[in-house]
Amino acid sequence: MKPGRDVLAFKRLFLTHAALAPATNQMSGHEPAGSAPRFSKRCTVSESFTPNERTRVVREPQRGVYDRETIYRILDEGLVCHVGFAANGQPFVIPTLYARIGDAVYFHGSAASRMLRGVSEGANICLTVTLTDGIVLARSVFNHSMNYRSVVALGKAALVDAPQEKLEALRAFTEKILPKRWDDARQPNEKELKATSILRLPLTEASAKVRVGPPEDDLADYALPVWAGVIPLRTVAGAPVRDERCDLGIPLPAYAAEYRR
Ligand SMILES: Cc1cc2nc3c(=O)[nH]c(=O)nc-3n(C[C@H](O)[C@H](O)[C@H](O)COP(=O)(O)OP(=O)(O)OC[C@H]3O[C@@H](n4cnc5c(N)ncnc54)[C@H](O)[C@@H]3O)c2cc1C
Repeated sequence: MKPGRDVLAFKRLFLTHAALAPATNQMSGHEPAGSAPRFSKRCTVSESFTPNERTRVVREPQRGVYDRETIYRILDEGLVCHVGFAANGQPFVIPTLYARIGDAVYFHGSAASRMLRGVSEGANICLTVTLTDGIVLARSVFNHSMNYRSVVALGKAALVDAPQEKLEALRAFTEKILPKRWDDARQPNEKELKATSILRLPLTEASAKVRVGPPEDDLADYALPVWAGVIPLRTVAGAPVRDERCDLGIPLPAYAAEYRR
């Protein structure tokens, strides 16, 4: 085993993986490409988050990453975030869709949901996104792991009131689900807009944690006759399935036929 060469090979794998991400994941400054937001709440921000006692990765600190580019790339590649908050002393962690616009993450839901009620009352929240890149098989059970890229963002979310910002957030959600979809589907009507609450979490306190590479076994275990390595994981889009009630005369749009993940 030549650890130096293997680490290099895994680093290449990680970069290739990032390069395979769809166009929406590619960074151009801080904006997601392919869906250039027409609305921006951006102000001047530094290239990196300054880790503090709340956001500094403690265990395996070498895996902590605080630069915006890495953090935004992970946020743009993820489809689902988990929003953690406490309501009446009970913690809840709710999975939901989200989209990043500039230096904020937007998420939405029914105005009647506990998450929306709890969070819009100014509660502190913790938003996480996790991408799983590989199963790490070590020689010892103890050292089994995952290759991953994850983001934890802390702060207070604010309810979005301005109709234009609300519409831009909805557009960003739709375009994140599938680029070019927004212009094809019916736009939200007034009733739908009213029933949907949108929250904005400004990205001011955030960290990423990234594990890449082979298993890290105890020195003595490298001599064991146990297979060790990584099984890469990827989210892959399947072939589109037509809704039974979709008129056969309506062609499958190219953006759906050609969608890759
Ligand atoms: C798929 C996956 C599997 C994991 N499996 C394990 C496991 O089996 N055992 C284990 O101990 N840990 C595991 N982790 C790591 C885990 O997420 C924490 O990093 C770990 O519990 C150590 O946290 P801490 O004590 O360093 O920091 P904490 O004191 O818990 O957190 C301090 C701050 O560090 C930052 N931070 C901590 N973890 C992350 C993260 N993952 N991503 C971004 N920012 C972070 C946050 O800003 C947080 O507020 C896993 C992570 C992922 C994504």
